[in-house]
Amino acid sequence: MSVSIDLSGKTALVMGVANARSLGWAIAQQLLAAGCRVGFSYQGERLKGELDKLLAGHENVWTQQADATSEDDLSALFGRVKDEFGGLDYLVHSIAFAPRAAMDGRFLDTTEADWNTALNVSAYTLVSTCRHAETLLRPGGSVISLTYHASQKVVPKYNVMGVAKAALEATTRYLASEMGAADVRVNTISAGPMRTIAARSIPGFGTMYEKAAEAAPLGRNATPDEVGKLALFLLSDLGSGMTGQTVYVDAGSSIMAMKIEN
Ligand code: NAD
Repeated sequence: MSVSIDLSGKTALVMGVANARSLGWAIAQQLLAAGCRVGFSYQGERLKGELDKLLAGHENVWTQQADATSEDDLSALFGRVKDEFGGLDYLVHSIAFAPRAAMDGRFLDTTEADWNTALNVSAYTLVSTCRHAETLLRPGGSVISLTYHASQKVVPKYNVMGVAKAALEATTRYLASEMGAADVRVNTISAGPMRTIAARSIPGFGTMYEKAAEAAPLGRNATPDEVGKLALFLLSDLGSGMTGQTVYVDAGSSIMAMKIEN
């Protein structure tokens, strides 16, 4: 079955594409295929080359460097959005970071500095980007971010990032409650494990990836393409009645308390 969605005339900003494996790229590909005009922000200059390669041959795209923790960078980025698009329909926040040391050791040993970094980059930046986007977002607009089930249940080694994702999910609800008055929706996608750069920084990710697939009702992990399709649903008018939600695309692994072989 194929459903085609026409987003020509719509505009999107996608934050957090590092390479072809990035979940932000899976989402951007769906937006581009639907005819949406897309601006991309990348964290630092070393990521520009990879993004330029991905976008070669695409029309209706532009890129700008923006560290999401910098108010100056966000001001410049949303100034660019205004210049390029006039207004914004869709905002994709696909950004997270925690220092490796905070995931290598015990949760009990999380330092204040690592806690602040993880929560700042992975949760607070959704607040700050939404604040910068607020006056540009058009009625019917939609914001999404990416979260993970370690917010709800303990995933060994995920540590402070699980707390950051819990904050991101709560942030989604608070933003949704305030931005709904302007007819803007805010949701977060809870994706199962996927092999990206961010995932590689989680100790034992390979084992986690295999266990999640074994436990999942579908007997596999969800794919970045499936994240992209859910994103298209939540961003577009298909998801018009949904806001403040954490929506899972994980082949069902999060519903399982345990798996017992028969
Ligand atoms: P990725 O490494 O491809 O993307 C993470 C992005 O965050 C990178 O582009 C990086 O540059 C950006 N970033 C980090 N700090 C930043 C900052 N200060 N300013 C601007 N950008 C910054 O990995 P990914 O897995 O595609 O991660 C995207 C999102 O998906 C993250 O929120 C991640 O937690 C979430 N997620 C990933 C998985 C998974 O298994 N890969 C599962 C669930 C949720």
